[in-house]
Amino acid sequence: MSDTKFEVLRMPPENTNSLLVYNANDCVIFDAWGHVSDWCSLLDGRGLKLRAIYTTHGHSDHLSAAPGLAEHYNVDWFLNFRDEPLILWGNQILDFWELPHIPGDYKKPKGLIAETVHILPGVPMQIMATPGHSLGGMVFYFPIQKILMTGDTIFKEGIGRYDLPGGNANELRNSISKIAAKNFPDDTYVVHGHGDDSVIKWLRENNPWFKCKA
Ligand SMILES: [Zn+2]
Repeated sequence: MSDTKFEVLRMPPENTNSLLVYNANDCVIFDAWGHVSDWCSLLDGRGLKLRAIYTTHGHSDHLSAAPGLAEHYNVDWFLNFRDEPLILWGNQILDFWELPHIPGDYKKPKGLIAETVHILPGVPMQIMATPGHSLGGMVFYFPIQKILMTGDTIFKEGIGRYDLPGGNANELRNSISKIAAKNFPDDTYVVHGHGDDSVIKWLRENNPWFKCKA
């Protein structure tokens, strides 16, 4: 639907890029970082009904608000099950940002697999498995809008860490090659997990990691 909007949000305490996809009434959140209360104010203030939450990977700086929002609005949130063990491990990261811990009885995510789903009417989303930064890392591509959300797999000028639990340098390299091999259109807009957004053409020409294996 042409009235669907994509908005990159850097919710306080600014660190992670979240993505809000919305139309006149409904919305979906990607990588719900920050405080649950800030998200509630934003959604309620705009009169948007939350339909679902998707998470690129299990690090707490990409999901700190996801279980709480899913519970508050009674919606599903989705995460690759391979990253579920990271959810509570990540509470130590939340301490650094002075964010509340995810409680032991948090609302559990539903599994995320590599498939195409419709997140809102007229908004198909292709999900790709891209392990390496974590076991369960996923990237999201919206073919109609030509928008790619990479999480921490690749950044504008670098790549994600592979020294955290479940990380693996070779897998990360393979995953980035897999993204590059998709030959997304030059003007595909890329939202990274942290830092500046980019476009595919820029990555091809400037990020030395973004190469398709021969
Ligand atoms: Zn991460």
